This record gives sequence, structure tokens and C-alpha cells, in this order.
Amino acid sequence: MQTAAKTLLHATVACVATLVLAGSASAAPAPAQPPTAADIAAWSVPQKPFKLYGNSWYVGTHGLSSILITSDYGHVLIDGGLPESAQQIAANITALGFKLTDVKALLNSHAHFDHAGGLAQLQQLTGAPIYVRRPSEAVLRTGKSGRDDPQASAALPPVPPAKGQIWIVSDQQLLGVGSIRLQALATAGHTPGGTSWTWESCEASACLKMVYADSLTPLARAGFRYTGDKDYPSAKADLEQAFATLEAVSCDVLITPHPEAMQLFERIAARDAAPGATLKQDGACKTYAAKGRAALAARLAAEAP
Ligand SMILES: [Zn+2]
Repeated sequence: MQTAAKTLLHATVACVATLVLAGSASAAPAPAQPPTAADIAAWSVPQKPFKLYGNSWYVGTHGLSSILITSDYGHVLIDGGLPESAQQIAANITALGFKLTDVKALLNSHAHFDHAGGLAQLQQLTGAPIYVRRPSEAVLRTGKSGRDDPQASAALPPVPPAKGQIWIVSDQQLLGVGSIRLQALATAGHTPGGTSWTWESCEASACLKMVYADSLTPLARAGFRYTGDKDYPSAKADLEQAFATLEAVSCDVLITPHPEAMQLFERIAARDAAPGATLKQDGACKTYAAKGRAALAARLAAEAP
């Protein structure tokens, strides 16, 4: 049971792995569990920052993605890792030769402790506003997830509350910072405020469509139902819309909040071993959505009476 529990725990807190079901297909879905010290340590392993493509850089820890997009008139940072990741992310930005005060926008995939945990401190270091979709605002402001978050429970660690400006973006809204143009895509269901971000990065005249796609895993507290839960009735529909959105988006390079969800470091190693290669990968967003669809189908089968 310990092995099963450990597997389950990892699947749960990592937000990425295929849903692991306890027992037979008719058993209730296994509830989300709090992270262990080992999980936190694994996510916090330092990572030397590196170029993804053009003006896009990986500045996160080894276990949690943070992406810096740069321009001559201001930079954008997506996701802040754990609360204790903020200093590593800040040091990585500085190590690349960029100034923290040139970061003009802080974006978020979803308002959980492992992707939004460092944002409050990064906001203090950069002075930049945070941009999220409306359901995430109260979480970042108060540090607590509402019951409409499927994982909201006493077991879900809080997010340090942000004290600076938080702006609301809507689905498909464009956001400009310097010469950077991003688009927000509503990809809810893992949380009600889940958001993916797209932009273009270029080297000479070769431009790639970059996609930072939010977690799509249907993980939840005990008793939550993805079909018609009173606290989040549209959870299933929202996830299905997220799959459709990511299947339709122009997607050359996919990055996910948990880098291992789509083997980022393996892809980096392959790229670096082949002269002239890029991270361009046909069908990556469709593959990612298909994994989400499979996890949701397994969840719904387990929820069935
Ligand atoms: Zn999450």
C-alpha cells in the first residue's frame, strides 16, 4: 500500500501524471494529498537558466517551470514556482544578464502553491503587476483557494498573498509588454482560473509559436465530482473546452508548468545534441490534450456510481 500511496501522492501533487486510481474501476477517485518534504525538495533542485528559443528563456527550478520572455522595453515572467523558488528564479534572471526591475508583467498558469507560490515575492522584487483570469484573483489576494477549486481542502498548501497590483485578463485577451505580444487562453478545469499563454519567439526571420499550456489533470479533494459538483458545476465542461482550445492553437514549442509532463529536459538534450535543431515539435499540444482527455475519462469512470 505504501508504494501505491506514494505513486498516488506524486500523481496528485505534481498536477501532471496520469491519474492513478485506487483499487477497481468502480472505486471512488483517490483524493488529492499534500506534498511531502521529498516532493518539495525534488521540485526545488536548482537549474541553470537556458534559452528555449529567441527571446524565451527557462528560469525556473529543475522541477517547476518559470519562463522569461524578454524585449528591449520590458520582460514578462510566467509562473513563480513554490514560495521558496522565488529567490532561485530571481537569481536565474540576473544570471542571464537581465534586470529584475525590467520585468513588467508577472503571469500565472494556475493559482496553486507550486506555480503561484513565488509570485508575491517576485512582485516585491520586480514591482510588476500580476495578470490572471478572474477566478485566480481572490486566491492570489487571500492566499486561499475557494471551494470551486477541485483540490481546495485543508491539505492544499496556501499561496503567499500578493500585496501589489493584480490585473484581470479575459479569454483570448492580448497582452503587450515592450515588443512582446502574448495571448491568454482560458484552460480551466484543473482550477477555475487556469490559463495558458501563447506568444511568438524569433531567431532571425524564423519565428516559432510558443505555448505555455496549463496543467490539465482532473485532481480533486475527497468527495468532489467532476460531473456536476455543486461547488464547480462546469469542471468537466471547462476541462473539455481546455482540451479543444489546446488542440486548436498554433503550437510549435510546448512548455508545461511541470517540465517533466512533456519531457522538457529530454527535448532540450536532444536539441543541444543536434546542430541547428530547435524545440519545434509537431502535434505537441494535441498530444498533451490527449493525455488530459485520457485522465479525465479515467476520473469520470471512477466517479460513476
Ligand atoms: Zn495544480
